[in-house]
Amino acid sequence: HGRLQDRVALITGGASGIGQATAVRFAEEGAHVVIADLPAQSAGAEETIARAQALGRNAQFVAIDVTEEAQVEEMADAAVASFGRIDVLVAAAGISHDARGALRPSLLELPTEAWQRLLDVNLTGVMLCNRAVAKRMISGEVRGSIINLASVAARRTHPGMTTYSVTKIGVWMLTRGLALELAPYGIRVNAIGPGLIASPMTYGYFGGEEGVADMGQRAPLQRSGQPIDVANTALFLASDESSFYREP
Ligand code: NAD
Repeated sequence: HGRLQDRVALITGGASGIGQATAVRFAEEGAHVVIADLPAQSAGAEETIARAQALGRNAQFVAIDVTEEAQVEEMADAAVASFGRIDVLVAAAGISHDARGALRPSLLELPTEAWQRLLDVNLTGVMLCNRAVAKRMISGEVRGSIINLASVAARRTHPGMTTYSVTKIGVWMLTRGLALELAPYGIRVNAIGPGLIASPMTYGYFGGEEGVADMGQRAPLQRSGQPIDVANTALFLASDESSFYREP
């Protein structure tokens, strides 16, 4: 009997990195998983699906862009249509600065469209997914758990990371506000704030696996984190172990 036995988990960004590791970890613990990601990520999505199915779980891919409200609503409808409800949302879809050309683009040089896209994906996208899923949790009388991916960048930043940090502190406060709004329904909302995690995102930003390994050397444990480290945190927050439901 897994820690998420027969729960229905919707995971955005499930084709790669932290989202993929979370989907597979949840499937190991008995969850059915719906993963949402961009259409261009179908190869990674298929891999996630295959790994969840190999564990004997139902798994489904919904190709969407989290910045498109109508698509987000369709994603949530598809999950409910397939599984009857959504117990857990992990909002892991996100982007970093496009490091091609300039490793750390200064805000002075960052095209306004890049600023806007980061806000659209990392903040508005998380809000849209939280709202779409929360509405369905309430109507389905599910005591659900919503887990957002913030970042250590919500608390600290460095030159070239300003915009990303702005989006992540936004996710942090979105999480706190929604936690208060949804508490009366028994829905809890949490954010995880990882430090450096080895994933395609950080490979892109820090110049490949070697660049990430070098960065990891500066951490107290002298290595970067792995997606599974974050997946295990999400597992705790998704499970009854963090539920607070027990009568006193
Ligand atoms: P990743 O690039 O490996 O995965 C992110 C996924 O999100 C990709 O599959 C991508 O296609 C998807 N995505 C991007 N834009 C999307 C959109 N508009 N619609 C739907 N899907 C979209 O990155 P990751 O490292 O796994 O990051 C996952 C989350 O964790 C992100 O929110 C990231 O900001 C956050 N985070 C990462 C780190 C780290 O060091 N890797 C640290 C702290 C927080």
